Amino acid sequence: MRPHPAARPPEAGSRRPRHLTCTTLHTPGGLPRTGRCRRCGNPVAWHPRRNQHHIALHPAELPTAHVPASWRWHLSSGIAHPHAGGQAWCRIPHTALCPARTTPPDTSRRLGELRRQLALRSRRLIDTAAFTPTPAPDRPAAPAKARTVVQLLLGCYLADDALERIRCTARTEPGHRRCPHPVLNPQAAGGVWRLLPLGHEHQVAVTASRLLAVYDLTRAPAGEQQRWRAQLCPRHATARPDLKRTGWQVFAPDRHAAHIRTRLPHTDGPTPA
Ligand SMILES: [Zn+2]
Ligand SMILES: [Zn+2]
Repeated sequence: MRPHPAARPPEAGSRRPRHLTCTTLHTPGGLPRTGRCRRCGNPVAWHPRRNQHHIALHPAELPTAHVPASWRWHLSSGIAHPHAGGQAWCRIPHTALCPARTTPPDTSRRLGELRRQLALRSRRLIDTAAFTPTPAPDRPAAPAKARTVVQLLLGCYLADDALERIRCTARTEPGHRRCPHPVLNPQAAGGVWRLLPLGHEHQVAVTASRLLAVYDLTRAPAGEQQRWRAQLCPRHATARPDLKRTGWQVFAPDRHAAHIRTRLPHTDGPTPA
């Protein structure tokens, strides 16, 4: 005998989302159990699927024409099936309408209106203290963007991106869009990668055990260093510099510890002297 669906452990791929809640998935008569979404407080109806998993559907049917094909479901003898026939009405998963989630990109106008209604109801429930939303689980932090430390003129600066992606700040005509070209000139790189003792930028006595990979431009001509400081590509080298547009930050080892690289990058360019 098959175990009751509610007693089955969740399985990978279709386990019950943690933001939807109900105590048991079926009433004793086998009817779907209604509950509410833990994020928005709107009602959902849990239906079994043919594979014994469950899906939380919006409790009402919608005209099929307003629902993207991948969201269409229908019920047959209380079991939820992906919608394959030509029925005029279908059901939709609550997650596609939940106002506490990011709006899916292919939401139709009709679904957008329904989503707004659910958002209003959610707001009313929260305002009257009838419902307290459960916050979404924390997402893992995105890995820190690789940013390059560049030594030029008289200082050390942290760029807003990796060396080859530091982008020109000039505005192009027409439209005044930002120039898409990199500051790095692939034909004449101008700088070399070096491993320098951490703290050299402040002339602080340091132990040699902590090193910092920097792109050193200090031996490049002064005009080339000024072009880098103004964050301009070679073709905009003579543009009027606007230092407020640049992404440079004066490098500070304590504040920028996440961007300290202790190895030289693999590069075909000049090797450190
Ligand atoms: Zn919801
Ligand atoms: Zn440019």
